[in-house]
Amino acid sequence: MASAVVTSRVCETPGCGCEAKLQCPTCIKLGIQGSFFCSQVCFKGSWSEHKQVHKKAKETQEESKNGYNPWPGFRYTGSLRAFPVTPKRQVPDNIPRPDYADHLEGVPLSERQMRGSTNIKQLDDEEQEGMRVVCKLAREILDVAAEAISIGVTTDEIDRLVHEATIDRECYPSPLNYYCFPKSCCTSINEVICHGIPDLRPLENGDIVNIDITAYHRDFHGDLNETMFVGEVDEASKELVKTTYECLMMAIDEVKPGVRYREMGNIIQKHAQSHGYSVVRSYCGHGIHQLFHTAPSVPHYGKNKAIGVMKPGHTFTIEPMISQGTWRDEMWPDNWTAVTQDGKRSAQFEHTLLVTDTGCEILTRRLANNGQPHFMDSK
Ligand SMILES: [Zn+2]
Ligand SMILES: [Zn+2]
Repeated sequence: MASAVVTSRVCETPGCGCEAKLQCPTCIKLGIQGSFFCSQVCFKGSWSEHKQVHKKAKETQEESKNGYNPWPGFRYTGSLRAFPVTPKRQVPDNIPRPDYADHLEGVPLSERQMRGSTNIKQLDDEEQEGMRVVCKLAREILDVAAEAISIGVTTDEIDRLVHEATIDRECYPSPLNYYCFPKSCCTSINEVICHGIPDLRPLENGDIVNIDITAYHRDFHGDLNETMFVGEVDEASKELVKTTYECLMMAIDEVKPGVRYREMGNIIQKHAQSHGYSVVRSYCGHGIHQLFHTAPSVPHYGKNKAIGVMKPGHTFTIEPMISQGTWRDEMWPDNWTAVTQDGKRSAQFEHTLLVTDTGCEILTRRLANNGQPHFMDSK
């Protein structure tokens, strides 16, 4: 591409009027037309005003990078942007589905009936076996997604693989249509705390991405998530992800009959804080079995007032969301994507657990690689 030859221009500085041949180097780099000055003195004198031109240009370039800006004027907290979301995928009729799958507003009526109840269900042997089966299938589906994580792959493509892997196992993807959630899994990148919607953004080198899978099979839900690395990730993000995983595992170590659910938050917050991190407060672990989200509620922050004591046969999740900066969250206008208010990164890990007579069974444990999470696999 040839550069334009300029003959005669007038200096940008108001009231100067001199012939100008010096062009602002930043404007050239950003592709901004014009911006000529007569001298270094005029350029420096106009700098504080002139640099606003750069800022504006950068903002509009950012917005139009993917040719898509669904919420003009919305102030993002970090650098991640919304990308287009593809149409809803279908689940074959022969696969049994939860009540909300066909509800117009995606309302889980069975869950609504239990709302406000703090009664925690103790599953009998047959129900526990149902949970073992679905949790193993959900783990397999997460492993399929993890294998596909790579620079340039879109989260929509991950969602497609998850959707197919779910159907292949005669499962319904629990997130799909739950309160109208539009996709079959959640994909939460960088400053997204949770509930990110898979879209057409290609994963970038240095991203951290959480994949959250819930499957529904023969009347039971199984739920897990892991945060993974895309290409080369900075040391601070590696530390965040590692510490978040430790938070989950340290809490799981204390699960056994007689322990209060509120104790989980004390363990998690203590470890997160010792590394200078904060604990997200708006989203909690939850009871799970024939219902996707039910009692108990399991907050991850310290000194919480969660109700309930662990008993054999309880099934629930622990899923701490740990942030580099503030614990405060806000939501994108899609009403799902939860992000950190300061735009710093947040990580998460989740398992579904069954309380046994002496401790717990990690129903969603990984069977390969000694059970270690995917981010620890050497590539
Ligand atoms: Zn969950
Ligand atoms: Zn989950």
